[in-house]
Amino acid sequence: MKAAVVHEFKKQLQIEDVPKPTPGLGQAVVRIEACGVCHTDLHAVHGDWPVKPKLPLTPGHEGVGVIEELGEGVTHLKVGDPVGIPWLYSACGHCEYCLSGRETLCPDQHNAGYSVDGSYADYCLADANYVVKIPDILSFIEAAPLFCAGVTTYKALKVSDTKPGDWVAIFGIGGLGHLAVQYAKAMGLKVVAVDTFEDKLELARKLGADLTVNPKETDAGKWIQEKIGGAHASICTAVSKAAFGQAYQAVRRGGSCVAVGLPPETMEVPIFDTVLNGVKIVGSIVGSRKDLQETLQFAADGKVKAITQTRRLDEINDIFAELESGEVNGRIVLDFSKQ
Ligand code: NAD
Ligand code: ZN
Ligand code: ZN
Repeated sequence: MKAAVVHEFKKQLQIEDVPKPTPGLGQAVVRIEACGVCHTDLHAVHGDWPVKPKLPLTPGHEGVGVIEELGEGVTHLKVGDPVGIPWLYSACGHCEYCLSGRETLCPDQHNAGYSVDGSYADYCLADANYVVKIPDILSFIEAAPLFCAGVTTYKALKVSDTKPGDWVAIFGIGGLGHLAVQYAKAMGLKVVAVDTFEDKLELARKLGADLTVNPKETDAGKWIQEKIGGAHASICTAVSKAAFGQAYQAVRRGGSCVAVGLPPETMEVPIFDTVLNGVKIVGSIVGSRKDLQETLQFAADGKVKAITQTRRLDEINDIFAELESGEVNGRIVLDFSKQ
C-alpha cells in the first residue's frame, strides 16, 4: 500500500510502498477514504515539540474510512462500518483520567500519526475501542476535519466556561478556528474572530462571526476590551506567541483564556492582572470519544460544516508549505478516491 513517510525531521515526506497492516487482538484495519491535514502534522514532521514522534513516521490523525478487517475479540464493529481514527489512538482505560471521562489526559496514551503511524496511507491500523463511528449522513470529506479540528474546538468551547449570549474571541481562523466559529455560533455565543489574513476574516464573517479584527492593523486585545468590554473567553488556535498574549489581554474579568494552538514557545502571563482580574488560563487537548460523538452530531444536524479543499496524497509537501505560509482557507483534506 501507499503511505507518506518522514524519515528525518524537517525533511520532505516520501511516498512509499509499505506493507499493509494486519489487525491483532482488539485491533481494526481501516481503508482510508480521506484524511484532513492538521497543523499538528507539520509540528510532527518538524520535531517541534519536547516529546518527539517516532521515526520513520506516517502522519495523519483525521483519517476516516471503512473497516476493512477486524482482529480477534472485536465484536462491536463490523467490516464496512464508516469510522475515523482520531489523535487519541488509544488510552490505558483504567487510570484516574480514563475512569473520569478525561481520557485525553491519560499518561499512557498513543497518538495517531505521532507515537504510532497515522492515516496518510491507504490503510491504517487502529485500536478498535478508540475508533469513532461516523453518522451515515456525513461524507468522508465532511467528516475528516471533525476528527481533530472539530472535536478540539468544540471541547475548547465546552471548557471555556461560557453560556449562550456570552462573547468568545477566537484567535486563528484556520483549520481549527473556522470550525470554532461555527461551533460557537451553534452554541449560542457571540464571536469575535481574529486573524492576520483578511480572507480568513472574510470567511469568519460568512460563517457567522459578529465582529472581526486583524492584529496586523489593530491591537486586538485592547480593541476587544474597548469594543465589548472584553470577551467572556478567548480560544487561541493561532501558531503564534503574540496571539497568545493578545488572547489573554482580550479576556474580561473572571473570564477564561483557553490555550489550544501549540507553537513551541512559552506564554508570558502577567501575575498581577491574572490574580486581580480572576482570569482562568486553561489548556485544552483534543476531546474524548464522547466529545467526538457530540462533535459529529452537530455536523449531522446541519449546524456545522467544514470548509474543505480536496487534494492528493502525493501533493503533501506542497500542502505543508501552503499551511506554513498561512495560505490555506478552511481545511485541506486528502481524498484517497483521487489517487
Ligand atoms: P492552521 O494553520 O490551519 O491555522 C492557524 C491560523 O492562525 C491561520 O489562519 C493563521 O493565519 C492564524 N494566525 C497566525 N498568526 C496569527 C496571529 N498572530 N493572530 C491571529 N491569527 C494568527 O492550523 P490548525 O490546523 O488550525 O492548527 C492550529 C494550532 O493548533 C497548531 O499549533 C496545532 O498543532 C494546534 N492543535 C492543537 C490541538 C489541541 O488539541 N490543543 C489540536 C489540533 C491542533
Ligand atoms: Zn490535529
Ligand atoms: Zn488512562
